[in-house]
Amino acid sequence: MSEAATCEIDLPILRERDVRLWIRREDELFPGLSGNKYRKLKYNIREMQRGGHQTLLTFGGAFSNHIHAVAAAGRQFGFRAIGVIRGDELAVSPLNPTLADARDAGMHLHFVSRRDYARRQSPEYLQELLGQFGPAYLLPEGGTNPAAVRGCAEILGEADAGFDRVCCPVGTGGTLAGLAAAAVPGQQVRGYAALKASGLEASLRDWIPGKHWTLSGEFHFGGYARIDARLVRFINDFRTETGVPLDPVYTGKMLYGILEETRRGQFQPGTRILAIHTGGLQGIRGMNLKLGKKGLPLLQL
Ligand SMILES: *Cc1c(COP(=O)(O)O)cnc(C)c1O
Repeated sequence: MSEAATCEIDLPILRERDVRLWIRREDELFPGLSGNKYRKLKYNIREMQRGGHQTLLTFGGAFSNHIHAVAAAGRQFGFRAIGVIRGDELAVSPLNPTLADARDAGMHLHFVSRRDYARRQSPEYLQELLGQFGPAYLLPEGGTNPAAVRGCAEILGEADAGFDRVCCPVGTGGTLAGLAAAAVPGQQVRGYAALKASGLEASLRDWIPGKHWTLSGEFHFGGYARIDARLVRFINDFRTETGVPLDPVYTGKMLYGILEETRRGQFQPGTRILAIHTGGLQGIRGMNLKLGKKGLPLLQL
């Protein structure tokens, strides 16, 4: 498999602060299976095949990039994909673009109540699902497990040793964990939380080793998938000025954070930053439906 392209970003604030910023376009790696979700699935698919499974069963919300990617992978690699989707009300309304794509790729969508969804880690509930759908390889929400972390470590290669900092957005932390595992001595890894969760850093410290990574909890814009006119404007301007499209849930917030920290002088002059574009662009269509309903400006597609 080929590696993702890396492009340098040229913006006045970067020049002013003497900070150099590159973006690794993991979003372009694999059409339909974008960004870190391909990395997270790679070794899981191998383990599934090694275990003799034909079916992968996983969990997600209505706009989930993970659900979208698993559905695309099912078609690409020839396994049956079952998505347990939060919200039984969705079963009777038209599918949003994310779920429509997933169904078109052949995923079976199983809508469950929020109450059932909350049981997604309980062994009894998992047994119930396996009883209903037959034997399956189980993947947790967000797709993070040790195999996923191993895949995310492959985002970095030998040629990346010259970057002082590697940045990524954080949902479950699987991507951050992979980058932290792959970082070379002296390299700092910085995650930008896409959600508002007090204690997120402490819970990540429980399982991601090392003192060479940090988490910013400042740029979540009110919480997971929350967005305002300021963030929409930032994402649209960034695209106009650099040619790089960002998604509203993860990469837009990370880049906002990196540039704000640059503006504050948080990075020493001469710092070389590599930001990982983890994908998520498929979510723009669904987000624009929500923005339109609220009368907010839309994201450029
Ligand atoms: C899922 C996702 C993330 C979060 O990755 P984690 O490994 O769960 O932290 C970041 N960016 C995008 C675009 C994603 O789809």
